[in-house]
This record gives sequence, C-alpha cells and structure tokens, in this order.
Amino acid sequence: MVDRLKDKVALITGGSRGQGAAEAELFAAEGARVVIADVLDADGAETAARIGDAASYHHLDVSNEDAWHALVAEIVEQHGKLDALVNNAGIYRNAPIVEMTRETYQEVVDINQIGVWLGMKAVGPQMIAQQSGSVVNISSTAGFRGGPGSIAYTASKFAVRGMTKVAAREWGRYNIRVNSIHPGPIDTMMLHQVPGFEADSDRFLRNTPLRRAADPSEVAYLALYLASDESSFSTGAEFIVDGGGLA
Ligand code: NAP
Repeated sequence: MVDRLKDKVALITGGSRGQGAAEAELFAAEGARVVIADVLDADGAETAARIGDAASYHHLDVSNEDAWHALVAEIVEQHGKLDALVNNAGIYRNAPIVEMTRETYQEVVDINQIGVWLGMKAVGPQMIAQQSGSVVNISSTAGFRGGPGSIAYTASKFAVRGMTKVAAREWGRYNIRVNSIHPGPIDTMMLHQVPGFEADSDRFLRNTPLRRAADPSEVAYLALYLASDESSFSTGAEFIVDGGGLA
C-alpha cells in the first residue's frame, strides 16, 4: 500500500457491505479517513470497526435530503473538508414492464437516481468552496443497455450516467471531477437477487468474456483511482469494469 489517498476524506454510501465496504476498506488502507453511510446499521458498524480508527459509520438514507445535508455538515465540522464522494448505494428490483408497480419503480428511482443527485447537491457547496473534489457515481452496465425485468433499475442507471456528465460540465471550473463506474456482475448480495444467477451462474455469465463474476475489490481499485489525484484529467467519463460484457 502506498498512501494513494493520504489525508483525503471520503464519504461512501451503501458502504456497509458489498462493493461499498470493499471501497471503504481499500480507501482506508490507502490513507483516507472514510465515512461509511448506509441504512444497514449493524453491518455498517461492523465494517467500520473492522477497518479501525480511519473509518466511522453513519446512518444515511440516500433518498432523504435533510439527512444528506446534516451528514455533510458533520463531516466538514469533524474533518474540515470532504475530498471524495462515492455514490454507491443502490437497490435492484426485478419485474416485467407490465407487472412493475409504480411504488416499486419509484422506490428504485428514489434511491438509485434521486439519491445520487441529492448526494451531489449536498457535497457541491463544500467542494466548490474548497475548489477541489472527486465524485464517483456507481452506475452499471445497465446504464448502457437494457435487460429484461429491469425497467426501473435500467432507467435509474442510465440517469446516473447522464447526471454525471451534467455535474462534470457544471463543476469542471471548480476543479471538481465527476465520473461514473459501470460494473458488470459483481459477487455481492445484489447479484444473487438477479433472476437466473443463483439457478445457473455459468449460463448467466456466458456473455461475460471472463466467464466469472468479479470480487468487489476489483471495482474498489477503479473507485480508488478515480477518487485519487492519479485520475486528475478524467471527468464526465464512463469507466467500465464488466469482464468484457459490453464488448
Ligand atoms: P449490495 O451488497 O446490495 O450493497 C448495496 C448497499 O446499499 C446495501 O448495504 C444496501 O442496504 C444499501 N442501501 C440500499 N438502499 C439504501 C439507501 N436508501 N440509503 C443508503 N444505503 C442504501 O450491492 P452492491 O453490489 O455492493 O451494490 C453497490 C452498487 O453497485 C449499487 O449502486 C448497484 O446498483 C451497483 N451495481 C452492482 C452490480 C452487481 O452485480 N452487484 C452490478 C452493477 C452495478 P440494504 O441491504 O438495506 O438494501
């Protein structure tokens, strides 16, 4: 480990488990102070305790605007700045178009899409004031193509790809970079909820050239690069980590 995030302060949503937890662990190992935010309180506290002093856990429902502003204010009060935000929290709900309910569609959009906007809205004033920052928005390969049963999820992930570009264009002048990550199949609880994966993972992965799901750490290394100064000339860009699926 070489302190690639030395002295940086990073906020990672959905960081209690899965990809967010892997990012929290890696960022802390690379010198960052990490704030984990999630609705899964027991797992979040456990993840922060495992990482140690460099990490803390805070309850945050990303669809709650007031809660976002309160958390960012607390972070700035405690650490004096906020260098990186990883908008990682997300949910997956599967239903064919004609069976999808409005409530479920709205739930997915509230968390996956509006949650990402609210995150950028909450950190924006601080990053503009400090004239620096990196926002990493976790979209999906579903931000590029549709899959059966994923009408709401796909809509939300296309939206994340688009909002990333708006933010990059608005905030470039303030030295704030905003990029999107597009994971393919990653071995977390979410993947196991996608119909077909549990039943026959080989069949599920037949269109993934590398023929496997990724370990969450394989996304975390990309998020690390984007959060760090190593990616200083990348903004508004799409970073794919999908085992070749979109190829
Ligand atoms: P995960 O293990 O399900 O982790 C997602 C985390 O987000 C969970 O702890 C979840 O808690 C939390 N969360 C859900 N709603 C929230 C809310 N309103 N506020 C704050 N936190 C909330 O899945 P993951 O694979 O690590 O997913 C991370 C990101 O990658 C998501 O944006 C997902 O869409 C994206 N992604 C995943 C895959 C994949 O194959 N796994 C592929 C492409 C993109 P609960 O358990 O309470 O929901």
